[in-house]
Amino acid sequence: MKKGVLLFFILGFFFFRGYSQETRLPEEEIFHSVSSHDLLDYAAELSSAPYEGRLSGSPGYEKAARWVALQLKSWGIRPLLPDSSYFQWFSNPWTEVLDPGSVILLPSKGVARTTRRVLEFPEEFFPGSNSASGKVTGEVVYAGFGISAPELEYDDYAGLDVRDKIVMLESGVPYSKNDSLLKSWEKYSYHRYKFARARELGAAGLLYTGLVANPNTSYLDGFVYAHVGEAVAGELMKESGHTYASLKKEISQTLKPNSFETGRKVTIKAKTRHFGENRSCNVIGMIEGSDPLLKEEALIVGAHLDAVGHPGMLFPGALDNASGCADLLGAAKALASSGVKPARTIIFVFFGGEECGLYGSRASVENPWWPREKVLFMLNLDMVGNGKGFFLQGGLSYPAYLEHFQQVNNEFIHRNLRSSENRISYGRPRTDSAVFQTAGYPTMNLWTTESVKTVYYHHPLDNTAGLTPEIMEDAAKLIALSLLRIANDILL
Ligand SMILES: [Zn+2]
Repeated sequence: MKKGVLLFFILGFFFFRGYSQETRLPEEEIFHSVSSHDLLDYAAELSSAPYEGRLSGSPGYEKAARWVALQLKSWGIRPLLPDSSYFQWFSNPWTEVLDPGSVILLPSKGVARTTRRVLEFPEEFFPGSNSASGKVTGEVVYAGFGISAPELEYDDYAGLDVRDKIVMLESGVPYSKNDSLLKSWEKYSYHRYKFARARELGAAGLLYTGLVANPNTSYLDGFVYAHVGEAVAGELMKESGHTYASLKKEISQTLKPNSFETGRKVTIKAKTRHFGENRSCNVIGMIEGSDPLLKEEALIVGAHLDAVGHPGMLFPGALDNASGCADLLGAAKALASSGVKPARTIIFVFFGGEECGLYGSRASVENPWWPREKVLFMLNLDMVGNGKGFFLQGGLSYPAYLEHFQQVNNEFIHRNLRSSENRISYGRPRTDSAVFQTAGYPTMNLWTTESVKTVYYHHPLDNTAGLTPEIMEDAAKLIALSLLRIANDILL
C-alpha cells in the first residue's frame, strides 16, 4: 500500500512536471515571445529615412548602430568589448552622393537615329556610390569586363584606345565555374581593380552595366562614373551593330573579349562629397554562458547592418539586410527575456562595412574579440526575410549542429530546411562568413528559399513591402532555439 502511494506520487510528480509550466517554459516561452509584428517593426525602423540607407561610415549608419545597441541594452544583453562598449570601430572612408546627377546620351554625327536623351533616375541609371564630383563627356567604348590578364591570355583592352573616353564595363569576370581556375581570376573581379585599370589607360569616366548600387568601389580623384540599365547599354551599342543581350554571354562562353567603339557619346554628371578619414563600427552584444567552464566557448551569430545608403534617393536595404538584423534582434530578445542561462556564451554581431568590402568582419578576425579556438561556429544571416523555406549552407559539414537545427525545425517550425556542405569558394569573398571561414572559423549561412516576393537587390525598391514577416518570425525562433540547444549540449 505504502509502495503504491509512493509510486503514485512519483509518477504523478513526473506526469505533472512533464506538463507543468516550469519544464516547458524556457523553450515554449522563447517560441511564443517572437512575433512577426516586432520583427517587421525592427526591419521598418532600420529601413526608414532617418538612417539614410545605413551606408557604413555615414552618420545614418552610426545612428542605426546606436539604435541597435540601445535595443540590446534594454533587453539586458551585455556589451562584449573590454571598455563596456557595444562598438568595435574600424576605418571606413565613404562618399556622400548629394544628388542623383545625370547621364545624358548625346546625338552622334555619323550615327543615324541618335538624339540627345536625358536618362530617367532611378529607372535607367544610378549614380556611382564613390564617383568623384564633376562632369565628364566622352565617346563610349565597350570594354567587356575591363580586364587585362596576360597570364590568362585575356585582355578586354587589346587594340583599344580608351584615352579620354568613357568605358562601359561589366562587373565580375567572364569565367564563372567555381573551381581552382576561378582563383586566378579573383584579383580581376574587384571593382577597385577595374577602376584602377581604366584610369591607368587614360579613361575619362566609366559606365557600369546593370542597375545595382554598390559602395564596394574606390573613390578616385576626378574619376566620374555611373550605372546604366541593360536597356540603355543596348541602346548605346545598337547603331554599331551589336546586341547587348547576347554579348556578355558570348564573352563568357568563349572567354574571348569583344570590345568596340560604340560611336556614341555621353555626359555623366555627379555631385558627391568624399570623406577619406572616417570610421564605422560593428555592434556586439552577448549572453554570457552560465557554466564555469563552457562559458569560455562561444557561438557567434551575425548579420550585416549596413546597406548601400542614399545614392540620389533612399535605398532602404530592407531585405539586404534589415531582414537578417531583425531576425537576429528577435532571437536575441527572446533568449535574453526568457531568463534562461545557456551554458556556453552566445555572441550577437551586427557588422558594419559589409557592402564596402567586408570591413567589419575583417576587423573582427584581425582584432578578434573572442579566442578563435573557443568559437564553435559563426552563423551568418544575410537576406533572411522573403520566402517559404530555409537553407542552412554549411550545416552538413557540422552534423552535430545541424541536428539541433533540424530537431527544432521538426518540433516547432515545420518548414522545408535544406542544407549543404561548406564548400570552398574560389571567387571573391562576398559575405562576412567568407572572411571568418578564410580565417579558420567553422561557418554556416542561413538563407530563406522559395521567394514569394520580387527581390530588388541594391535597389530603391528593396523596401519592407518585399518582406514576408512570417518567415522572419520563424527564422528568429529557429535561431534562438537552435542556438540555445547547441549552447547547452554538453556532448559537443
Ligand atoms: Zn547583404
